[in-house]
Amino acid sequence: MNLDLSNLSDLRRAFHKAPELGFKETGTKAKVASLLREYGLEVHEGVGVVGLLRSGNSNRAIGLRADMDALPIHEASQHSYVSKTPGVMHACGHDGHMTMLLGAAKALALDPRFSGTAVFIFQPNEELGLGAKAMLKEKILERFPIEEIYAIHNLPGAPVGQISTRKGLICSSESLFEISINGQGCHSSMPQTGQDAITIGAEMIQALQTIIARKLSPGAGAVVSVTEFLTDGQRNILPGTAALKGDVRALNSKDRIDIETFIRQISKGIAIAHGVDVNVNFRTEFIETINADVPTEAAIRVAQAVGLDTVPDRTPMNFSEDFAHFATAVPGCFVLLGNGDTGPNGQPLHANNYDFNDALLPLGAEFWTKLVYDRLPM
Ligand SMILES: [Zn+2]
Ligand SMILES: [Zn+2]
Repeated sequence: MNLDLSNLSDLRRAFHKAPELGFKETGTKAKVASLLREYGLEVHEGVGVVGLLRSGNSNRAIGLRADMDALPIHEASQHSYVSKTPGVMHACGHDGHMTMLLGAAKALALDPRFSGTAVFIFQPNEELGLGAKAMLKEKILERFPIEEIYAIHNLPGAPVGQISTRKGLICSSESLFEISINGQGCHSSMPQTGQDAITIGAEMIQALQTIIARKLSPGAGAVVSVTEFLTDGQRNILPGTAALKGDVRALNSKDRIDIETFIRQISKGIAIAHGVDVNVNFRTEFIETINADVPTEAAIRVAQAVGLDTVPDRTPMNFSEDFAHFATAVPGCFVLLGNGDTGPNGQPLHANNYDFNDALLPLGAEFWTKLVYDRLPM
């Protein structure tokens, strides 16, 4: 490509220095919108930012998504572009995702060898799984109809610039549950006078382990974790109430629905056995991300054309992605881009010393650009 994408690291580092949490991305959104306008795109601002780049006569359109939010983590790194906001950092590489997509917007505006509309979608609040839904609620797909949608996420631990993806399920769902036990608190010396919520809760925690071990098929790849056990007990008071909170990952919707049913059944059964009330709350924040065949084939073809090492059939990721909501509405493809395995680039996502690899910026921008040329041919 004859476009100069070499100065993208300054932009990435500027985003890195000024991280903002989900739905508070005010400065980030303003910067994204102003750059898109500077490149000549038509810009629409709402909860996120949408940039439209039209070329030729075709009324075909595709969407390219980047996420803008940072995480509530205090950055431990010492580099010159460390977060200026204590307790907030770009620990998931969304600074890099925005920069690659902005680089592509600039490159495509300068060299629009395509026919149709490239729709650049910068979404807020990916981390809590709320941003895509908020943009869909603003009817972006009705206002800016697209035939396909794509997203890139960096992947520490994978070789620099390696593109990996797969048809079908690419990221698991995430659901949260809370089991509230309502018994009777009492003096710890007279347990017979109450209904101790702690022993009942402990029994539930044990029994919940049988969902993965005995109720789903081996190799289902699902996870059920109780992560919090809160009671109103004290040193000499047996608790009357307890709350068990936890997190569920599933690789398909049937397992997710079955897990919810089993959590309700087990909790209710144990509560009945002990004569206490129980209330179960289960909600799915992230649905499974499913890659459609045609966009996935296109992404693999383009990655190969750019000369990137390509893995077309990777194992699904256990993390969850808000992109799932877009990919449910229109055929989509979510690809992972290797961030390297050394130093801060090789630290896990969400680690306080993780850093997006600047070497990916021109590669990602070129991938995006060539994807538009491939999907919206002249
Ligand atoms: Zn993240
Ligand atoms: Zn992320």
